[in-house]
Amino acid sequence: MKFFEHSAKKVFESEGIKIFEGHVVYSPEEAMEVATEFSGPIVLKSQVLVGGRGKAGGIKFADNSGEAFEIAKELLSLKIKGEEVKHLLIEEKADIKKEFFLSVSNNRANKTPIIMASAEGGMEIEELAKTSPEKIIRYNVNPLKEFLPYEAREIARKMGVGSELVSPIGNIIWELYNVYDKYDAEIAEINPLILTDDGLIAADAKLEIENDALFRHQDQVKQNRFRKKDFAFVKLDGDIAVIGNGAGLTLTGMDMVTLFGGKPATFLDIGGGASDGSIRKALNLVLNYAPVKVVFLNVLGGITRADDVARGVIAALDDNKRKVNIVIRLTGTNEEEGQKLFEEAGIPYEISLEEAAKKAVKLCEEIKAKEAK
Ligand code: GDP
Ligand code: MN
Repeated sequence: MKFFEHSAKKVFESEGIKIFEGHVVYSPEEAMEVATEFSGPIVLKSQVLVGGRGKAGGIKFADNSGEAFEIAKELLSLKIKGEEVKHLLIEEKADIKKEFFLSVSNNRANKTPIIMASAEGGMEIEELAKTSPEKIIRYNVNPLKEFLPYEAREIARKMGVGSELVSPIGNIIWELYNVYDKYDAEIAEINPLILTDDGLIAADAKLEIENDALFRHQDQVKQNRFRKKDFAFVKLDGDIAVIGNGAGLTLTGMDMVTLFGGKPATFLDIGGGASDGSIRKALNLVLNYAPVKVVFLNVLGGITRADDVARGVIAALDDNKRKVNIVIRLTGTNEEEGQKLFEEAGIPYEISLEEAAKKAVKLCEEIKAKEAK
């Protein structure tokens, strides 16, 4: 099974290899939102299982969230070697001083693992293999013996990297071999491993696990599955957006709104363990749905703590320059902290579901009356 770069990176990280913190996005809107969390330029990377994305135009940079939106739109409509791009990995754009190539795979002819490494990594590695094969160090590992860190350092030395890099690159070779070994990989590869002011970082990651061994690596397999949607989002024909955490609670919110004479515009269940990030996303989602006049957010703190919800709401309201008519009901775990945050931010809230639903319906009627004038 081939792994997407983002899930391969998680596996590499678990063995000690440094990666950038990344975000996976599925739409230009999400890319725009994620981009606002970075202070500098970002890289948007098409997540496909074929290689050579860079050359195929699947790796692009953006300086701000507007650009991120446009580029994400472009990349998400791209096909790379016949494979549709369905999601992107967003990371900070690295300032690259040097690119290295490291790989561990099966040497079928020799019936051993083989480590290949070069101080001239990057997109031209295949070209290099043809024109200057001597620049790629090849080292067969005895599978019956433990592969030791000093052997890895020896490979790094042969790569001809600066003496100060022999030990850190040796370490990464050793860690990459451990990934290969522990995860029953057919290939584990970093191209490029980059040198930055913050040290050595895996800027790309390739991992393929033997299909017959997948049963041993179910957690990694799950990571690699295409994400199902965060939210259950249904557009309805009313004007009050109902958001809740949990399907039951969301439905109850809709019932209450209906009971007091209102009409729900959405059913949006943000799920049980919703983080403050997903609340921001949920709010942005309904606020971009035109018929919505009032947002009714019905949260019961459980796994999701009420203070996290409050932070999410405050952040999302800050994001939206336009005035948002929102009625919030907040109770449950950590409710005091959450309510305090709202009070400090000057955002009103309710504790009773009934009161909150009534208020949302009334607010919506007032807005419509005003608009009718
Ligand atoms: P691949 O073409 O599918 O192997 O995709 P990679 O992830 O290896 O990216 C291709 C190339 O894009 C790399 O060799 C880098 O030169 C460049 N690249 C990728 N990420 C960054 C980044 O964060 N900053 C800069 N400056 N270049 C990057
Ligand atoms: Mn690469």
